[in-house]
Amino acid sequence: MQRKEFDQKQREIDLAWQAHMAEEETDAKVRRRWLLFYVEHQDQKCAYYHVRLKIGMVPGLEDRQATIDHILPRSLGGEDSTQNTLAACAFCNVLKGSTKLSDFLIDPELVNRILKISECPQHISSDPSSKHYDARSIARGISVTVDHIELKNVFEYSVPENWVKLKLEKTKTRNGQPMTVLKRGKVSVIYLDVRDRLRAMEAPKRYVNQFRQWLLERSQPS
Ligand SMILES: [Zn+2]
Repeated sequence: MQRKEFDQKQREIDLAWQAHMAEEETDAKVRRRWLLFYVEHQDQKCAYYHVRLKIGMVPGLEDRQATIDHILPRSLGGEDSTQNTLAACAFCNVLKGSTKLSDFLIDPELVNRILKISECPQHISSDPSSKHYDARSIARGISVTVDHIELKNVFEYSVPENWVKLKLEKTKTRNGQPMTVLKRGKVSVIYLDVRDRLRAMEAPKRYVNQFRQWLLERSQPS
């Protein structure tokens, strides 16, 4: 979304909110538009984590319900304005409560949840004709290590069978797939964003600064 478009939409919501305060529009209606604006802008994802937001209560996925979250909690003097809000899942919103952003981002309960809901598939192939092909996981990005060494050119891996197939650059098989070489060892996989998040826990200050930067830049084209 372009900055101009973002500012324009934000202004529309602010105007609608003022109209509500003047009782021309209902609270719920403006709040819903406000929420949908940020959900869309965040690519349907919770600002604090990768989880896909649900609009309204979905049975079994109540903790993924999209909510308006106040970056600086209202109990700490945060404004109830579009500038001080983002879309977060119900789990994060409740857990965050009146915690400061910098404390919440490194909350162990949040990190545990991230690990719990982010288990990588145990076998993935980059060959679209394979039954182990998983476009969504591949697009998200996976770090693969064999015997604790991260490998960049993995074409396929199997965690239970302890092997990876490494892509050989420039050479292709007859059906257009890259040539691979088998490597055996202890295979571990983790989504890149989860790995980065865990690394961030080791340098929480930097991570909090990055998040603040993202907040500042969120109206830039993505
Ligand atoms: Zn969340």
